[in-house]
Amino acid sequence: MTIDWSTWKPGDTDAEFIASTPGWLAEGLKNQKISFSGADKVQLDEVANIVALGLGSGSAESKTVKEVVSQLSIDKELAKSLTHFAMALAMCQRALGEYEYAKGAKIQWDSAGCCDKCNQNDGEVIEAGKTFPSGHQFPPACEYCICDIMPFMEF
Ligand SMILES: [Zn+2]
Ligand SMILES: [Zn+2]
Repeated sequence: MTIDWSTWKPGDTDAEFIASTPGWLAEGLKNQKISFSGADKVQLDEVANIVALGLGSGSAESKTVKEVVSQLSIDKELAKSLTHFAMALAMCQRALGEYEYAKGAKIQWDSAGCCDKCNQNDGEVIEAGKTFPSGHQFPPACEYCICDIMPFMEF
């Protein structure tokens, strides 16, 4: 399973709001321990703003990548990486908000098999706010991570 696009309506203003926060993308890369070569020379807030608008209007990832490339004239591969990461991060953080992140809800990592780090977390359940075995609080855990996070229900 990947990000739950079924619950994602075109025009996601919550994800747009998350991605619009100044410094959000730089902090996200740091927190998720991900670095893309050349990203240090990019105005990450500008990338985040374009991604935010894309999320808000329900644009496809490929369309947002094109916007990033044309508006910021950065390398296409880097634009792809940053856009994918930013969209995945915003969606995950939005989902966590819905699972009442602040109230100590339990969450489970659903690995898409992206890499060893992600697979290490597969099926693990933690209290939101704690860290999974890889050291991440939530996906994305790697460059092209499409893992998902789910609320963990105890009966
Ligand atoms: Zn991974
Ligand atoms: Zn992953």
